[in-house]
Amino acid sequence: PDPINDVEQEVKEWAREKKTEIDDLKKQEKFRREFLSNISHEFKTPLFAIEGYVEALQDGGMDDPELAKSFLAKVARNVDRLSVLIKDLNEISKLESGEIPINYQKFELTALIKEVMESLEFKAKKSKINFVFKDKYDQPTWVEADREKIRQVLVNLLSNSLKYGKENGFTSITIFELHDQFLVEITDNGIGIEEKYLPRLFERFFRTDTSRSRQIGGSGLGLAIVKHIIEAHDQTINVRSTEGLGSTFGFTLKRVKDIRINIPLINN
Ligand code: ADP
Repeated sequence: PDPINDVEQEVKEWAREKKTEIDDLKKQEKFRREFLSNISHEFKTPLFAIEGYVEALQDGGMDDPELAKSFLAKVARNVDRLSVLIKDLNEISKLESGEIPINYQKFELTALIKEVMESLEFKAKKSKINFVFKDKYDQPTWVEADREKIRQVLVNLLSNSLKYGKENGFTSITIFELHDQFLVEITDNGIGIEEKYLPRLFERFFRTDTSRSRQIGGSGLGLAIVKHIIEAHDQTINVRSTEGLGSTFGFTLKRVKDIRINIPLINN
């Protein structure tokens, strides 16, 4: 036994641990800095636009009623963008801090999908896109998950399929039965995504470069929220897409096999 050597080893080990801790802190700090700079960048764009249109209105734009109307519509659109951004930011920071935990319940997935489709029917009609639910699996689809959060996942994915869909196109929703999971796939025949963008798609604030996705108001947080929710359930999400042809987003949920429904006995 060599006590000096032992102490030396211990000190080295301690130094290694500290170095890892410091590296982690540095990484977190870098992440926070990037996050803040992303946020301010995302806020600046609509704010500058609002500023510009308001200035133009003050500088004589008001004298031309048609022009004034179109400028005001643009102001309103950018105000909408800001409120979506604030809502999504709030959501993602709450999810990431663990402030809203996953509240597991057993529920029937098909019913939830139909509810969400119905709530988006008006938007779908406006975008001239047809929702198709493929009822391949004809048994009740019981899952164990947080119903409200899965609703959010479905709303975000279906809304994207409308935003990036083509007129007279479709969005189909299919449930596949796996061993102890269900796989939900949402497919559109919209603008699709270039392959090089696929690995970054679920990052916060990531939006593809197509002018289309810049024109369409959005926070760039929808898919980051979706990924966070699915991974917090220990489930997986993936995407396949072909530019110009369309995209498929698929996520899994834990399946409940033996659901016993208690039917109350009726006493005469
Ligand atoms: P947002 O739609 O607010 O920009 P998301 O996080 O929901 O943010 O999506 C990130 C980006 O991924 C979008 O800007 C768009 O470029 C691309 N995208 C998402 N869903 C689709 C889809 N169904 N079809 C084509 N592109 C999509």
